[in-house]
Amino acid sequence: MAVLVTGGAGYIGSHAVAALQERGEEIVIVDNMQQGHRKALLGGKLYEGDLRDAAFMDTVFQENEIDAVIHFAANSLVGESMKDPGKYYHNNVFGTLCLLEKMNEYNVRKIVFSSTAATYGEPENVPIDEYDRTLPTNAYGETKLAMEKMMKWFDVAHNIKFVSLRYFNAAGAHESGKIGEDHSPETHLIPIVLQAALGQRPHISVFGEDYETADGTCIRDYIHVSDLADAHVLAVDRLRGGADSAVYNLGNGTGFSVKQVIEIARAVTGKEIPAVFEARRAGDPATLVASSDRARKELGWNPKRDKLEDIIKSAWSWHEANPNGYGDK
Ligand code: UDP
Repeated sequence: MAVLVTGGAGYIGSHAVAALQERGEEIVIVDNMQQGHRKALLGGKLYEGDLRDAAFMDTVFQENEIDAVIHFAANSLVGESMKDPGKYYHNNVFGTLCLLEKMNEYNVRKIVFSSTAATYGEPENVPIDEYDRTLPTNAYGETKLAMEKMMKWFDVAHNIKFVSLRYFNAAGAHESGKIGEDHSPETHLIPIVLQAALGQRPHISVFGEDYETADGTCIRDYIHVSDLADAHVLAVDRLRGGADSAVYNLGNGTGFSVKQVIEIARAVTGKEIPAVFEARRAGDPATLVASSDRARKELGWNPKRDKLEDIIKSAWSWHEANPNGYGDK
């Protein structure tokens, strides 16, 4: 039986493909290559196309014996989602609807879903647990919440079981040095800080210094991408074992401010990394820190690369060795 990984050529998807590959799973990848990279695939059989293309998805399901899906394919930029919500509803929400309908048609009843802390919005409690209120402050988070809710009703009606993994901030790169983070344009904090360290940018722009946090900058919980990948494999196992649908947070449980991230990156790289303070970015909550107790208990998940310094070191190794990423965009 094969695992279908949608968006498998993207940043987190490619690390999940690597984790599946390491334990000998048969892997099928669907990616429309808008953000994906062929070189990011360390294994698996690639089908290049879009979830919303029904004939294409028929071929994928007909040519392979798929028993579980890991669904990464989506747009995922907070800022962009505030400017172009329609793109997010179309690709993320409609794309997921198309996928679930095909899964139902081809009798595939297990899905692990790439969700996000952005489903919570401004948290009521810190750290956030899975029972806390979900009130997204940006269109990206709203579409991910809509996708989760869609899966809930496909479970009720069609017995498609899901595990939704709400990640906090993914960072770092694979220990092999072969794959890492390469978005174009890049919008995420750690890669941008490292691009400034490499001299590819004149400075890092810090979005907002007037948040209600200790140093006025936003606080996030950074989690190594390979620890995230491991959680997906555990979630597939859980569904294959017959477990019911569930939602899990994935984070380390410790928050770091934007200023702290820059300080640690300066120490790791030995570079100056100039910072310029700018206005807030629309849609950003002040603080997002996870309680992942549930994932630890029920999935047996145990993040191994949990020190931010080590996460940034692993990202820095990738960026230093691959200053232009995969060099294909
Ligand atoms: N951020 C920043 N400058 C940048 C990119 C991000 O100050 O060039 C801040 C952003 O406002 C947020 C944090 O860094 O508070 C993490 O942002 P990122 O885009 O990496 O992840 P997100 O939390 O949006 O998923």
